[in-house]
Amino acid sequence: MAGLRSDHPGSGPRQVDVVVVGAGFAGLCALHKLRNVMGLSVQVFEAGDGVGGTWFWNRYPGARCDSESFYYCYSFSDELAQEWEWTGKYPEQPEIERYLNHVADRFDLHRDIQLGTRVSAARFDESSGRWEVELEAGERVVAQYLVTAVGCLSAANVPDIAGLDSFAGEVYLTAKWPREGVDVMGKRVGLIGTGSSGIQATPRLAADAAHLSVFQRTPNFTIPARHQAFLAEDQAAIKGNYSAIFELTRQTAGGFPYLSIDRQTMDVPVEERLQVLDALWEEGGFKFLWGGFSDLLRDPAANEFVSEYIRQKIRATVNDPETAELLCPNDHPYGSKRPPIDTDYYVTFNRDNVRLVDVRSHPIEEITPTGLRTDDEVFDLDVLVLATGFDAMTGALLNIDIRGVGGLRLADAWKDGPRTLLGLQVAGFPNLFTITGPGSPSVLLNMPVAIEQHVDWIGELIDHMREHGMARVEAVEAAQDAWVEHVAEVSKDSLMGRANSWYVGANIPGKPRVVTPYAGGQPLYRERCEAIKNAGYEGFVFSA
Ligand code: NAP
Repeated sequence: MAGLRSDHPGSGPRQVDVVVVGAGFAGLCALHKLRNVMGLSVQVFEAGDGVGGTWFWNRYPGARCDSESFYYCYSFSDELAQEWEWTGKYPEQPEIERYLNHVADRFDLHRDIQLGTRVSAARFDESSGRWEVELEAGERVVAQYLVTAVGCLSAANVPDIAGLDSFAGEVYLTAKWPREGVDVMGKRVGLIGTGSSGIQATPRLAADAAHLSVFQRTPNFTIPARHQAFLAEDQAAIKGNYSAIFELTRQTAGGFPYLSIDRQTMDVPVEERLQVLDALWEEGGFKFLWGGFSDLLRDPAANEFVSEYIRQKIRATVNDPETAELLCPNDHPYGSKRPPIDTDYYVTFNRDNVRLVDVRSHPIEEITPTGLRTDDEVFDLDVLVLATGFDAMTGALLNIDIRGVGGLRLADAWKDGPRTLLGLQVAGFPNLFTITGPGSPSVLLNMPVAIEQHVDWIGELIDHMREHGMARVEAVEAAQDAWVEHVAEVSKDSLMGRANSWYVGANIPGKPRVVTPYAGGQPLYRERCEAIKNAGYEGFVFSA
């Protein structure tokens, strides 16, 4: 295979400069940078049978990106940006999967990506200073650097519900939707989960199924996406302005190409406040969270005003008052969980074939061979859809048995919560880089922007090492402690810690409760990354 080197052909494991785990947005970007730009030998291992990562697996009906297409893409190639035509504002999963395959073709990436191959373990060999990477099938590969591009939302959470295995009908996870699709036409479908995935899938399942029961434990605030197809003039305006758009995405707090407004909600008279919210509601999308007022995630009163505004929209949309009230969130501030964006979610509950089932008041007791039983009712089902989320940010990393210096297991190093320096490296795990790792802004940013910044930073660090004849780099424990403290400190200003969400690990029983993404915003994060680099990688220790 091209790009692979073996010091002892035919005897010993294959050797490469870098092993990258995952061929989603991050893995493809890393392969392009490290191999095409820097000339390293790189081997990518991807568990799926195609590239795309999250956009390979999450092909459930209605799966659509919540960020706008024209900036939810790579910025590293002007030619790519100019030649690719997004069909509309919020691309559906097949379009993003096509885009990522196009990228893989265009930059000749496929030849160094081994599909259908799961990395099961990686061990740092102190004598050679290399990573021994083990594949599920037993093969081993040796690399100087190990770069994880495993995604923040890729380890699916299968809920521990009694009897799940006994169900005689079809069971699907939104996070592992079959490639050949699922036909629910004329079937009785049960959907568990009302996060972004469940909210996107609900209207589509309802349209096809004979009947849909949505089992809701916690209601969620969702904002209309207001998807639109692009016209030729939209394409031209975007392409004519791409360098400025991309530049702006690197400067704003969330990585979106929009300047935020410095306006405090309660300083604005009520009438005007409502006008701002009406305009944002009509426009749709994430902008509702940050495009009108700047204090929604800091000021509880401001947040409650906006939360109530959304509840009123729900009550105005859903005909049955009891169902409307059940859909109104009241246990967390708006935006303290990752806010979903929807197309026709609330209005779907006006359909005769859809029922919202409150499994907070009447918990699911078991799945039976013929359906689902709550503590007060039995539901006969043909299909069960689990939109039950992910072991976010750490799950996919810890699913690999990663062992660093002295055989230290990453799972043990992180038993009280993840500890990293910049979300990029872990003390005790030399030459391991974690793209969009815990402690980096990742999930709070427009993902491709977060990924490109990490990949560039890692590339520069490896360049620095090559220039200085260094072979090993590792985060210093004290610098890591300081970073972990800083991550905790910046999250105190945010209401994010108040919700039982995957941001804090609350969705996974037994997971330590820690605000895992860096909430200080992109500008401060980039400033820290640059300052550390410019100080000769302060906080990292190198050896030859
Ligand atoms: P999620 O937000 O974690 O939601 C999981 C849902 O499953 C919650 O409603 C949860 O209820 C419910 N649930 C879990 N276990 C349950 C059980 N045993 N019984 C009843 N209900 C149970 O997961 P997600 O919807 O997959 O979204 C995760 C993240 O992926 C999103 O926040 C977003 O960042 C990303 N995503 C993005 C897009 C996009 O850009 N278009 C689309 C989908 C997902 P509780 O709340 O009560 O725990």
